[in-house]
Amino acid sequence: MRFFIADEEEILSGKTTDVYFLRTIEVLKKENVHKNVLMEVTTQDHKYPWFVFAGLEEVVNLLRGKKITLRALREGTIFPPFDQNGIPVPVLTVEGDYQEFAIYETPILGLICQASGIATKSARFKKLIGDKKLLSFGVRRMHPALAPMIDRYSYIGGCDSVSSVIGAERLGKVPRGTMPHALILVLGEENAWKKFDEDLDPSVPRIALVDTFSDEKFSTIRAAELIKNLSGVRLDTPSSRRGNFAHIIREVKWELNVRGIRGIDVIVSGGIKEEDVPELIEAGADGFGVGTTISSASTVDYAMDIVEIDGIPIAKKGKFSGRKDVYVCKKCGNFAVVPHGVERPLCKKCGNTMEDAMETLISSGNVLYSPPRVDDIRNYVIEQLSRSII
Ligand SMILES: [Zn+2]
Repeated sequence: MRFFIADEEEILSGKTTDVYFLRTIEVLKKENVHKNVLMEVTTQDHKYPWFVFAGLEEVVNLLRGKKITLRALREGTIFPPFDQNGIPVPVLTVEGDYQEFAIYETPILGLICQASGIATKSARFKKLIGDKKLLSFGVRRMHPALAPMIDRYSYIGGCDSVSSVIGAERLGKVPRGTMPHALILVLGEENAWKKFDEDLDPSVPRIALVDTFSDEKFSTIRAAELIKNLSGVRLDTPSSRRGNFAHIIREVKWELNVRGIRGIDVIVSGGIKEEDVPELIEAGADGFGVGTTISSASTVDYAMDIVEIDGIPIAKKGKFSGRKDVYVCKKCGNFAVVPHGVERPLCKKCGNTMEDAMETLISSGNVLYSPPRVDDIRNYVIEQLSRSII
């Protein structure tokens, strides 16, 4: 084994589970106990008022072939951790003979906790950034085996492009990036800009890195004079030298403007946090390369709990037992969770009739799910970001 990762077969066979599930199965098998168990996934995470539900396609692939029923929110749904009455919102349920799926609790949670965490962080940036460009730059800070996963969920959450070659390839997109400091150091600043322009395919955007040696303002002007098709400059100014980053952006934009140079985007990167964004937008930043903040986003703390056994409501303390119906108000994004079969509620926020929030993806082992296009999931996230509840 050259890399410390589990391969697909090991994940599918349950080897990444926690050992106590294997012990549970061993006991249930020896005692010949077959009970129909309904489990639900909820979060009582108070980190944010809303989260993006993601990771579903991988969960379906994990449970494919098992005689279970899987229901879930549509992938990309923005949901609050608690409904309009303070009840935790189930995002996913699994039902069947407990022996059939007990060992998958660990990988199910692992898949959706991290995917939802990354998609949520990306969506929070997208909401702040709006129509400006949001670029996912963070794969370098996580295990390379996760690059496609990090870029996928960054994209789903709202990033406009991703930097890793494999991440973009899996999304069916072109990877996006500028130039590294290394090229400038190896060739010299002006020479690097020139050769980048001369040697690369015209489809590669001409974005010059302008912070390596000297002042960003003067480097930007030089780059604009040297490269005819310059489409942008990137300011990756280290925070130790940044001073007032917003002011540097203002100065760069001003100097371009007074020279009548148009159409050059200012892309900022380097440890950008959510709280930095409003000021940088106000100063005129046109694009944001966000790395670690998205790729190492905190996971959403989902838990998976038994809520019904053989038709009888049962749950551990702190959890709400019983089969539930989950509704969403399509107008404002509000949620309602009620005992299964009771009357469909109205939205407390806007009085609207609520709609079923969950879909059946696997029914007693039959897979009904066909994966949506990744762009449809991303567009769904972006459409919800404009709702008033968020
Ligand atoms: Zn509503």
